[in-house]
Amino acid sequence: MLDSVGSAGELSRQEQQILDETDRFARGELYPLAARMDREEWWPDDLFTRLGAAGYLGIDIPEAYGGQGLDLFAAGLVLQAIARWNHAVALSWVAHDNLCVDNLHRNGSEEQRLRFLPGLCRGESVGALALTEPGAGSDAIGSMRTTARRDGDDYLLNGTKLYITNGPIAHVVIVYARLIGDREERTVGAFIVERPSPGFAVAQKLSKMGFRGSPTAELVFENCRVPAANMLGEAGQGVAVLMGGLDVERAMISPICLGICERALALSIEYAKTRQQFGQPIASFQMIRSKLAEMYVSVETMRSFTYRVLREAARLEPGAAGRGEIHKLTAASVMYAAETMNRVLDEAVQIHGGNGYMWETEINRLFRATKLLEIGAGTTEVRKLIISEELLR
Ligand SMILES: Cc1cc2nc3c(=O)[nH]c(=O)nc-3n(C[C@H](O)[C@H](O)[C@H](O)COP(=O)(O)OP(=O)(O)OC[C@H]3O[C@@H](n4cnc5c(N)ncnc54)[C@H](O)[C@@H]3O)c2cc1C
Repeated sequence: MLDSVGSAGELSRQEQQILDETDRFARGELYPLAARMDREEWWPDDLFTRLGAAGYLGIDIPEAYGGQGLDLFAAGLVLQAIARWNHAVALSWVAHDNLCVDNLHRNGSEEQRLRFLPGLCRGESVGALALTEPGAGSDAIGSMRTTARRDGDDYLLNGTKLYITNGPIAHVVIVYARLIGDREERTVGAFIVERPSPGFAVAQKLSKMGFRGSPTAELVFENCRVPAANMLGEAGQGVAVLMGGLDVERAMISPICLGICERALALSIEYAKTRQQFGQPIASFQMIRSKLAEMYVSVETMRSFTYRVLREAARLEPGAAGRGEIHKLTAASVMYAAETMNRVLDEAVQIHGGNGYMWETEINRLFRATKLLEIGAGTTEVRKLIISEELLR
């Protein structure tokens, strides 16, 4: 367990240690992979087992299930440090450790936890979550076409899921589907689907502008047979599982923005000090200094808000997410972090001049990471809908 809990904006000694140790690991082990992952859209096959062996999976999962026995705040710190050095790994990590593993632990039965969590925490199996569909993005529940029909002790899944992080490499996928048949009509179920399973295929691996090392796929289910015992929560509780999971996911996306922006600021300071024009470092020009000062303020406000909301999310009672104050706060945190990241990276590239416009530079790679975090886990517009609905309730 964590020692004395730090305040909203500050870290306890143990939390600082987690951040620093992960930073050292990510710098040494993950940073050297980043350029090739981006250039070739390459995912190193052994990466999840290496993360597991080094103790960087199952951060907020009890040790009894093979996890690290820490909390969601510590998981956010691990994510922040990974994002500084390899944000593609950070995205795949959050899809595995939060969207799949944390969700499975929160909502799974004891039997499901014992069956799936140890392998996921060791990184022997890779996790993912499949909600979005070709016709169901922001309206994920209302427009959901993927169905699950009861067939004896199983369900038969049919449908297509799109833009699924870790889709090409996942072994355990939490899939949301509309339950059809008798009284269950129009409710949603969450299923743990294993790969390989007959009727479950990766239709295509998708090519992206940013986070290119993190593999993304379209998944297809054709009469895919899933045991009823693999349903997460009770039949019809899928919407609660989904909405609660999205709040936790939003709290956990802000640390990715924070880590990326910290790195962008460090790179910009370094470049401003070394790049010479008019016979002096560009850092001597007031307009460059102004940009650095504004970037710093953005990073620090992002840090405070991110940590505050993460602490609140870490304190959530089971089943309490998906509504009320935390629903509003997590949407606000990720909306602020993602939009601020846009501005920080815009200025970072500007400081780097033409060099920042070159695809192969690190700052360009970071710049291409903008936009996704304004789109994934509910777009900026959806976040505004959530915040305003809660304000006006
Ligand atoms: C790289 C990547 C990884 C992803 N990983 C996953 C994953 O692992 N699992 C998963 O399930 N999904 C994943 N997603 C999907 C992501 O969550 C969706 O892209 C997102 O929810 C938006 O859906 P959409 O793309 O269909 O956009 P749409 O919903 O079609 O939205 C298009 C535009 O219309 C706006 N809009 C829609 N409705 C409204 C409204 N009511 N009011 C105002 N504006 C509105 C949106 O804000 C947006 O600007 C991923 C996406 C990407 C790009």
